[in-house]
Amino acid sequence: MSKDTSIGWGLIGASTIAKQYMVDAIRAQPGHFVRAVMSSQQDRADRFAADCNIPAAYASLDALLADPQVQVVYISTTNELHRDQVLAAAAAGKHVLCEKPLALSTEDARTMARACQKAGVLMATNHHLRGAATHRKIRELIQSGAIGKPLFARVFHAVYLPPHLQGWRLDKPQAGGGVILDITVHDIDTLRFTLDSELLEVVGMSQNAAMASEGLEDGAMAVLRFDNGVLAQIHDAFTVKHGGHGIEYHGDAGSIIGRNVMSQQPVGDIMLRNASGEQQIPVEHEGLYIRGVAAFCAALAGQGSPSASALDGILSLTGALAVLQACKSGERQSVPRPTI
Ligand code: NDP
Repeated sequence: MSKDTSIGWGLIGASTIAKQYMVDAIRAQPGHFVRAVMSSQQDRADRFAADCNIPAAYASLDALLADPQVQVVYISTTNELHRDQVLAAAAAGKHVLCEKPLALSTEDARTMARACQKAGVLMATNHHLRGAATHRKIRELIQSGAIGKPLFARVFHAVYLPPHLQGWRLDKPQAGGGVILDITVHDIDTLRFTLDSELLEVVGMSQNAAMASEGLEDGAMAVLRFDNGVLAQIHDAFTVKHGGHGIEYHGDAGSIIGRNVMSQQPVGDIMLRNASGEQQIPVEHEGLYIRGVAAFCAALAGQGSPSASALDGILSLTGALAVLQACKSGERQSVPRPTI
């Protein structure tokens, strides 16, 4: 397809995630290309553009949004910047795929979604785990009754934050640092997706093991109650080097054990255990980000919905903020269920 008929993306944020996964995920979509990148520093934008072979590099949001070849923006700046960047993109008539957490408050996230609705542009959230063949298979198994009535879930997502990412997540509360807005928000989204259920209430405790600066958590454990009755236990950290990761679901007729599945890579195994014994469930792995961007592009073309909508981003953020508040206050928190 020629550039004239294809859809150009602008990257807002010269970030690690954009470079590691999203440029390739966009380029994997027929008819889509990466037109531009924007950084707050022109030299970083230029370097990123050169490294990734992107034609245009900007140091201002206005310049990127004024580029007529940019029709969609992917926002992966630090979290405190998402709101105003989405609002500007919507005002410029650009479709938006925004990173999680969408914002630092539910109200801001709702404002962003409403602005996109009003402008008639698509907005979605980049919760990549919904794109994993493993989590999609788990959702299918639960819906088919493979474990009977789901009763419990356990998420093990205590990992080690690699040295190249040991920056704002650990020392900038104003940027939405901390493990809860970084990892717990993904766990909550994954549980909402697989269980097809919404959060009711949470309790939690957090830890600062001195990787994060004072006032920010680098580890957390929480218990969540969903509206289908499921109790879920989550364990998230930046500080655990050798724990491995996974997810489990336990119902009255069986259990699903997912190992190595809380990953950015298309990897992991699922085991189903019930009265018939234990069986490994086959999954056809595919790139999580590629699949997520494909769903977004299909939705742009009027086919289906994005993997995680703007509302999904709002609801998962609201759950994570409730866990944060539960940890801070030591009190059980009811989780509101906002709409756009
Ligand atoms: P990075 O720290 O790599 O990038 C965030 C911002 O930091 C960039 O926009 C950039 O600013 C600045 N920056 C990057 N590299 C440098 C550098 N070498 N020197 C100075 N500044 C630099 O963040 P991530 O890519 O890890 O995360 C970005 C967003 O994506 C966050 O919202 C995060 O929550 C989300 N995320 C989502 C994931 C998912 O799987 N869905 C996975 C990882 C992150 P500028 O643009 O001004 O150059």
